[in-house]
Amino acid sequence: MPEDKHTLSKSTYVRGMQCLKSLYLHKNRPFLRDRISAEQLAKFRRGHDVGALSHELFPGGINCAPGHPSQYQKAVEKTRKLLDEKCPVIYEAAFEYDGVLIFLDILTFSEGIWNAYEVKSSLRVSEVFITDAALQYYVLKGSGLEISDFFLVHMNGGYIRQGEIVPREMFVFSKVTEEVQRRLEITKENISLANEALTLKKSPPIEPGNQCFAPYPCDFMGHCWKNLSENSIYRIGGITKERRLRLMSSISDDISQTEPSLLSAEEKMLIEVHQRGTTHVDPELRNSLQNIDSAAFASLLLIKPAVPLFEGTKPFQTIAAGISLFSEKTGNHTFIAPPGSDPRGYISDFLRNHVQPGETLIVSSADEAEVCKSLVSDAAPGCAILDLGSALKTGKIYKKGIDTEYDFLQNFSSFLPGYKPSKNSGAVMAGVNYLNAKADDEAKVLTESQKYLEDTNLGVRKLFEFLVSG
Ligand code: SF4
Repeated sequence: MPEDKHTLSKSTYVRGMQCLKSLYLHKNRPFLRDRISAEQLAKFRRGHDVGALSHELFPGGINCAPGHPSQYQKAVEKTRKLLDEKCPVIYEAAFEYDGVLIFLDILTFSEGIWNAYEVKSSLRVSEVFITDAALQYYVLKGSGLEISDFFLVHMNGGYIRQGEIVPREMFVFSKVTEEVQRRLEITKENISLANEALTLKKSPPIEPGNQCFAPYPCDFMGHCWKNLSENSIYRIGGITKERRLRLMSSISDDISQTEPSLLSAEEKMLIEVHQRGTTHVDPELRNSLQNIDSAAFASLLLIKPAVPLFEGTKPFQTIAAGISLFSEKTGNHTFIAPPGSDPRGYISDFLRNHVQPGETLIVSSADEAEVCKSLVSDAAPGCAILDLGSALKTGKIYKKGIDTEYDFLQNFSSFLPGYKPSKNSGAVMAGVNYLNAKADDEAKVLTESQKYLEDTNLGVRKLFEFLVSG
């Protein structure tokens, strides 16, 4: 069997295009990597469901996916054999060229032409998907396979599930043949650059910047950003990340060196609060909180399945699967729908039973506020909704340690010294774990979900009390 000689794959190539230092560290210093973030884990798991369903677009194909990295070469040979036999549909077709190994999601042969399909668990085509498709096209062509058309297959945001999923309606085909053909030369150059970076003795001298966040949050942030100065403008977490990065690159990284005329009045105020170690609460926000007659506090367990699980829902629709509620009138209650069931009716009934008309429902994120809005209009008419999480994210509430990028629980811990939520206890992770609960870990997942809901609910209440008493 020929030896596997590849140095790059789709994911390492895309990583290198984002930052060559990230590629170098990934290959040579993997132990420096941060723990996988909840968002990335969610995307990975989402991709799994969507990939399996996409096979129904072209049923009856032969799968070349290797069971283990040691079988990569076997997968390439199996694909080659299927090409020779003009197999009509191949899943995970494996190709290797110029030191790059790729697995194409679906390859079809019909009426003498080959077409390529790459499936994305996303509502739209993005630049990084075209970069990825261009690499695949380069490898397919270099391997001697002439592709007639290359399609990116993604989710149709307007699709509404009625009965069984209809893959032909749930997926959209975007033809990117011309774009990937135009990028052949630049792809070749990019591969050379990536390979050069990998031969270096030390990681390339690349400073932290915008590239650390897009198209994907880099998993070496903990390593590269650890020496960020205490005086860095990046530490002013009440300013949006984009603005902080712009200030860092165009003005100065050091707060004390930044020309005040280049900052807005609000930014100057946040810097002052940060340096003095005090707390800022927007007076209008405080006033509206103090005028609430009857408050109830809600935390929601939100799920966002890529493939619509329930009748009448769309891809990536946000749905409440659990709720913890503390009402001054009805007390403390928590409910989580049995995994696998449609939770919408349960949650509406819960609100109908526990929320009183005229109460203001206080939540911790814009997503929760959005979902509550549609639920209470039916189940508890006359309720107002107030989102404290967004106030933390927009600098209306600010204290050193808060960051617009953090989850509510992480930010809330700034107000409660000693409170340390675990790294994977955020809203996204709680939803992902619930969605992926299996019979053997369901009890554990439900216990953790309940803890997440009750911790968040307590956080919202404590924050509210602090803000009102201020
Ligand atoms: S954290 Fe930023 S600079 Fe460091 S490897 Fe990642 S992208 Fe590159």
